[in-house]
Amino acid sequence: MPAASAGEPLLTTAPGGPDNRTVAYFYDDDVGAYAFNLVHPMKPHRIKMAHNLVTNYGLDKHMDVLKPDRCTPHEMTRFHTDEYIDCLARVTPETFDEITGHGQRFLIGEDCPAFDGLYEFCSISAGGSLSAARRLIDAKADIAVNWAGGLHHAKKREASGFCYINDIVLAILELLRYHSRVLYIDIDVHHGDGVEEAFYTTDRVMTASFHKFGDFFPGTGAEGDKGKGRGKGYAVNFPLKDGIDDETYRSVFRPVMQAIMDWYRPGAVILQCGADSLASDKLGSFNLSMRGHAACVAFMRTFNVPLMILGGGGYTIRNVARTWAFETGLACGKEMGRDLPFNEYLDYFGPEFKLDVPRNNMDNANSREYLEQTTASIIDGLRNLPFAPSAQLHPVGLDLPSHSASSSDDDSDLDVRLSSRIRQTAPRPPAPSAGAGAHLLEAEYDEDDEEPESTWRRKRRLGQSYITSESRRRRDELRERRERFAALAAAHEDEDCGGGGGGGGVGAMDVEGEEDEEGPHARRSAAAGGAGGGGRQKRTFFRASRLDVRQLLRAPDPGLAALGYAESDAGHGHGHGHGVAREWTPSAAAGL
Ligand SMILES: [Zn+2]
Repeated sequence: MPAASAGEPLLTTAPGGPDNRTVAYFYDDDVGAYAFNLVHPMKPHRIKMAHNLVTNYGLDKHMDVLKPDRCTPHEMTRFHTDEYIDCLARVTPETFDEITGHGQRFLIGEDCPAFDGLYEFCSISAGGSLSAARRLIDAKADIAVNWAGGLHHAKKREASGFCYINDIVLAILELLRYHSRVLYIDIDVHHGDGVEEAFYTTDRVMTASFHKFGDFFPGTGAEGDKGKGRGKGYAVNFPLKDGIDDETYRSVFRPVMQAIMDWYRPGAVILQCGADSLASDKLGSFNLSMRGHAACVAFMRTFNVPLMILGGGGYTIRNVARTWAFETGLACGKEMGRDLPFNEYLDYFGPEFKLDVPRNNMDNANSREYLEQTTASIIDGLRNLPFAPSAQLHPVGLDLPSHSASSSDDDSDLDVRLSSRIRQTAPRPPAPSAGAGAHLLEAEYDEDDEEPESTWRRKRRLGQSYITSESRRRRDELRERRERFAALAAAHEDEDCGGGGGGGGVGAMDVEGEEDEEGPHARRSAAAGGAGGGGRQKRTFFRASRLDVRQLLRAPDPGLAALGYAESDAGHGHGHGHGVAREWTPSAAAGL
C-alpha cells in the first residue's frame, strides 16, 4: 500500500457511513471495584470510567451491551497450568506467603501483587474475551469489545507485568476452533510477549507487536524474533524508540498491517489497544494522540474481518478512559462531540473537559531511515512465507457442535483435535494434567532441539521489571535519602520523643495516608519484638520518617514531587507481613 500523504485524515472510517457494523460490547460493572493496591499504577477503575463516558455519549444505543460470563477455572486451564490457577483461586494478601512461597512461585509479588478479589477480577477480564470470541464465532457481531481484557504478559504458569490470566491466548484458542488463521496485533507500548510466546511455534496464529524496545519491560520483541519451527516467520516485531508520534506510527503500522492482511488472510483479528502508548502515559514513552492511537482501530476496521478489540496497559487513567470511549464510538461508526458530556468522573477531565489526548513536545527518537528500513525488512520477510497457509495437518473445528451445547464436551473434543495434531508433529504425548493450549505448547517446544529461552527466564537474567529503570532510579535515590534521614533521626531520638508535637502541622501533609498503613504494622512489629519501649520508638520513627519524606519531596528535589512520586514504602522492613510487594510508583493522587 502506498504511503499515505501528509494531508490524509488519520481516521479513514467514515462515521455513520455505509460500513456500519454490529458491535458487541462486554462489560461487567464489578470490574471497577477491584484495586491491585492503592499505589499500584494499574487501576481497573479506568474501565468503569471509560464505560461511563461510553454511556453518557449514548453509544450503548448503537451496540449490544452484554455482561460476559465469568471465565471458569476449567476454561483458564486451556492455557494455564492447573497448579497456577489453583494458586490464583486461593491466594489473598493473608495467604500470600504460604501459597506463593514469599512471592517466589508463580512470580506473584513485585509487579503482580495478591489483592482481594484477584481471582474474580481475572474471571471477569478473561470471561469478557472468551465471550467476545464466541460472539464473533456465532456471527452475532462483526466487532466485539472487551476493555477489561488485553492482559498480554501473563504466562502459562506465572503472572507477569500486572497480568495474571492471559485472556488473549484463551480467546485465540477459542477462535482457532473455527478459524484456520488468527491474527493478533498489539499496540501497547510494551511487547506482547505472553501471546507471542504461546503461539511461537505455530503458523495458525500470527502475532504482530509494535512496542518500545531497549532497556524496557519485558525486554523481548527484537525484530529478529520471528518464531520457531512451523511458526517461523509468524511472529512479527516492530521495535520502536521513545517519542513516536501519530504520523510516524501510521507510516509503519499501515503498510505492515496491509501486507499481513493481504498475505496471511486471517479469519479473525484481535487488536490489543494498550493505552500506555499514548502521549504522557505514566509508564510509557510514546507520543501518540488519542486520534493517532484510534487510527489503528479505524484502519483494522476497514478490512471487514471479524475483529476483537481489547484493552491492555494505560496508566494515565483519564486519557485511557477518553481513548477507549472514543475507540468504542469508532467501532460503532459514531461521531462523538469534542466536549465531554456530563459524567460521574467529570472532575478527572478538567480543566479542558475535552474528548482529546494531545501529543506533547517530546523528541521522536525514531529516524525516518530506521522506520523505513524496518518496515521494508518486515514486509520482505512476509513475502517469503506461503500465501495464506492452510491448516491441512490440523483440521479446524468447523464441524464442531456449538460451544454453547456443552462446554465440557467441546473441551474434550478440542483436546482430541489438538492432540491429534500433536501426534503428527511431536514424538511424545502431552502430559495428562495440562489443558489443551498447554498440550500445544509443550508438544511443540519438545519438537525443537533447543528450548527457547522463555520470557521470564530472560527477564530474570536481565533483572528487568515492568516498573521502568527510571522509576527504579528515583526509588533508590529516595530510599537512600530516607535511610540517611533515619540515621539522623536516631541520633536525635531523645529530643524527638520529648517533642510530641514536634511535627506541628504534620496531620495535613500529603503522606498522611500512610498512618493507616503503617500504624498497625508498627504495633505488630513492636509486639513481636517484645522489646520494651519498641512501640514508642517505632512510632517516633514513623512520625519522623513521614516528616522527612515530605521535606525530601519538597525541598532537595522538587522534580520528584512534581513528577507525582510519593513515598509508599515507609514500612520497609516492617510492613512485609501481608506480603504485598511495595514499589515506588506514581502516587495514587497523581493517578487521577
Ligand atoms: Zn503496556
